Amino acid sequence: MNVVIIGGGIAGLSAAYQLHHIAPELTLTLVEASAQWGGKIATEHVDGFLIESGPDCFLSRKPHGIALCESLGIADQLIGRDPDHAKTFVLRDGRLHPLPSGLTGMIPTQLDALTNSSLLSAEGIAHVTQEPTLPPRPGSDDESVASFISRRLGREAFDHLVEPLMGGICAGQADQLSLAAMFPQLRRLEQEHGSLLKGLNLQQPAPAPLYPPFVSFKNGMQTLVDALVGQLTGVDLRLNVAVTHVDPIERGYLLQLSGPKAEPLHAEAVIITTPAFVSSQLLSTLDAEWAATLLDIPYASTALVNLAFDEADLPVLDGYGYLIPRIEQREALACTWTSRKWRDRAPSTTLLLRVYVGRYDQTDVTQYEDDRLLDIARDEIRSTLQIDTPPLFHRIIRYPNALPQYNMGHLDRIDSVNCRLAQHPGLFMAGAMFNGVGIPDCIASGETAATHVLQYLRSH
Ligand SMILES: Cc1cc2nc3c(=O)[nH]c(=O)nc-3n(C[C@H](O)[C@H](O)[C@H](O)COP(=O)(O)OP(=O)(O)OC[C@H]3O[C@@H](n4cnc5c(N)ncnc54)[C@H](O)[C@@H]3O)c2cc1C
Repeated sequence: MNVVIIGGGIAGLSAAYQLHHIAPELTLTLVEASAQWGGKIATEHVDGFLIESGPDCFLSRKPHGIALCESLGIADQLIGRDPDHAKTFVLRDGRLHPLPSGLTGMIPTQLDALTNSSLLSAEGIAHVTQEPTLPPRPGSDDESVASFISRRLGREAFDHLVEPLMGGICAGQADQLSLAAMFPQLRRLEQEHGSLLKGLNLQQPAPAPLYPPFVSFKNGMQTLVDALVGQLTGVDLRLNVAVTHVDPIERGYLLQLSGPKAEPLHAEAVIITTPAFVSSQLLSTLDAEWAATLLDIPYASTALVNLAFDEADLPVLDGYGYLIPRIEQREALACTWTSRKWRDRAPSTTLLLRVYVGRYDQTDVTQYEDDRLLDIARDEIRSTLQIDTPPLFHRIIRYPNALPQYNMGHLDRIDSVNCRLAQHPGLFMAGAMFNGVGIPDCIASGETAATHVLQYLRSH
């Protein structure tokens, strides 16, 4: 039986690994349009600096990430953030304020810590404190993340605390993001306990975790990609080959490939893990309605500007970096002090910073020339950190249409996608648009698609 997986990002690699592991008898082909495996995940080594091109870590509490590392035998290479610099800041009115401790996810549950922090005004803190007394919203309609958080915790806590934390997940516009798609557990807490804070405070304390909350690898996130690819011996691995169309044939599908000499691939089952707008093109002749629904899923573009400095040229930077709320009206979204957050990411006496630029619903910064992106990053650190020295070198990475936005109506769109999928036996989908954009979510999505393929093949 032939199975083809389209897209060699973490969802596609996880699907391939799972299928290969459980059913090595299958003839498996993994097709990736670019010149490298991993999709958004890649690590570069430049003059002793370790630069993450995309994600720099993942959440350990979502089980699929850690479980995959354990299965691959790379869990011993996982590292946590450097405890010597365990501080994150938030920009407010041009000044950095420590992020209050005692957050559960994005929600402040330790009110003493919030009271002692300088981030919110007395009025803003009072609003949060009153949350347990507010009535729950009746009805079952969805609402935006901004509406929900402002209603429960007050607009100030939303603007200056929750919004910047949430921006780090998908660079989204919280007025448009769907609560039901992004944070259904928060609405459940309101419904079940009448209050977010009551619900969170009633939760049983989690058992002592085996891993730090955010984990990366000593040698960068590429470790995960390399380990996955290394396990796929016997799988037909094709880089620099794009699938252009998926056409139905009598027993399965015929996949048209890019390139004049590329022979179409036949498969009894196909897993599509490309971004929604690419999947829409692949399926345009097969099912126009499906293709149109996929095109309705919007994406945010983002760019990363990495800057290397001599430490002697910088002020003291003690922390992991800072978040920039949308309300501050800056083009930058965050600045990570990379080699403070993670040990051994830069030669001693140097420091690596990374400025995230670009948000959903604003100008697509990936269209900017390098000089303009560099200026944005340097302006940001000049005005906030008073760093005016030119960097030793910089490295710019662009991600056009990189992060799916779970905007209002997202769950309906995904339902429609899944309904159409059910009309085409043997086709399956996975990836960041489904159940979360984080790496463990994408792994889970790839593994689930693999399980569905096996069920399908065994029943046909
Ligand atoms: C800048 C940035 C920072 C992030 N930081 C974090 C973080 O710190 N932690 C975290 O958990 N998550 C983070 N994320 C999110 C996470 O990295 C992504 O959601 C996840 O990697 C997406 O995986 P995927 O396999 O669904 O998609 P992708 O990685 O996009 O993979 C899809 C693959 O399909 C290929 N492809 C496209 N078209 C075709 C075609 N026609 N034929 C064949 N192949 C094709 C692409 O080249 C790509 O390799 C970040 C994302 C970005 C952009």
